Amino acid sequence: MEISKRLLPQSHRQEHAADETKLGFGDKFTDHMFKMDYYDRAWRNPRIEPTAPLSLSPAAMVLHYCQTVFEGLKCYRHPGDRLALFRPKDNFRRFNQSAERMAIPLVDEEFMLQAVKELLRVDGDWTPSLPGSSLYIRPTIIATEPHLGVRPAREYLLYVLLSPVGAYYKEGFAPIKIYVEDFFTRAAQGGLGSVKAGASYAASLLATEKAAQKGFTQLLWLDAQEHRYVEEVGSMNMFFVINGKIVTADLTGTILPGVTRSSVLKVAADMGLTVEERRLDINEVLAAKETGALTEAFGAGTAAVISPVGTLSYNERQFAIADGQVGPITQKLYDELVGIQYGGRPDPYGWIEFVD
Ligand SMILES: *Cc1c(COP(=O)(O)O)cnc(C)c1O
Repeated sequence: MEISKRLLPQSHRQEHAADETKLGFGDKFTDHMFKMDYYDRAWRNPRIEPTAPLSLSPAAMVLHYCQTVFEGLKCYRHPGDRLALFRPKDNFRRFNQSAERMAIPLVDEEFMLQAVKELLRVDGDWTPSLPGSSLYIRPTIIATEPHLGVRPAREYLLYVLLSPVGAYYKEGFAPIKIYVEDFFTRAAQGGLGSVKAGASYAASLLATEKAAQKGFTQLLWLDAQEHRYVEEVGSMNMFFVINGKIVTADLTGTILPGVTRSSVLKVAADMGLTVEERRLDINEVLAAKETGALTEAFGAGTAAVISPVGTLSYNERQFAIADGQVGPITQKLYDELVGIQYGGRPDPYGWIEFVD
């Protein structure tokens, strides 16, 4: 499919951020977006146009039944000003896995990569250069068909937004405080836990807000059945260092299979660390804290890359991890991953995909 273009004249484009240290997360968008429509059983009319509000029927099915999926990946500025994507094919594979679960028609993964590269050829110069900053890429599909009966829609819009971003958490690469949620749950077996669906986030908001009021940046979800097993944090997979081993929840269908998660496991194993993907009881974590076996904890996801956890709060008790500091293994994994992403270190895995 040929991607058509309708671009803003240079004189109508926005100024880029003058001060990259002031970049937030996801509140600023570049001048152009990619769009593609689905109707009559096929994706059609791929195009790049000025970023603008959508025109949507108030009966659009996404607004009523939340039939929507999204992805999140980043474009990094490498030395020599080359633009680099990190494992983008994994994101587009997961985009389709999410679409399938939400009864949304699949998209050609190779074409999606070409479309994102084409959009970056137009607006890639928005990629900031400050360490920790990047151009966040948000592919999204929404059900646009105006219809109130409950069934999968027959019409969709796919679009891709680009957003220059700074650090995800206001703390930056500093330990965050996490509240272990023992009442609300995120995903049950057979539900939406393993896909990137807006509906999962909608369901998580109230609990996250309550934790925020108590002063916590994020929630750690426990399993929906027994409220015992560690699942993941808001938008990150969760890792613990216990007896020097990296332990994370296994992918049982209720956890999002993070690209960062899989990268952490690979890099950690290659550093000679033992990695364990298994069920992990929160009581085991806290017992390990008591004996000193638990030395570090961190979350991993595209938005924040790696976020050290300094405090866990569970059942009205607070547990400091690594004395509230960044642990050495967390730091080593962060340096290696960020090194590959920003081009400061070699990429032995073939994870980097250049735009040019
Ligand atoms: C996106 C996401 C993650 C992290 O996945 P990455 O591919 O590493 O960005 C983790 N948990 C949830 C719920 C997510 O939506």
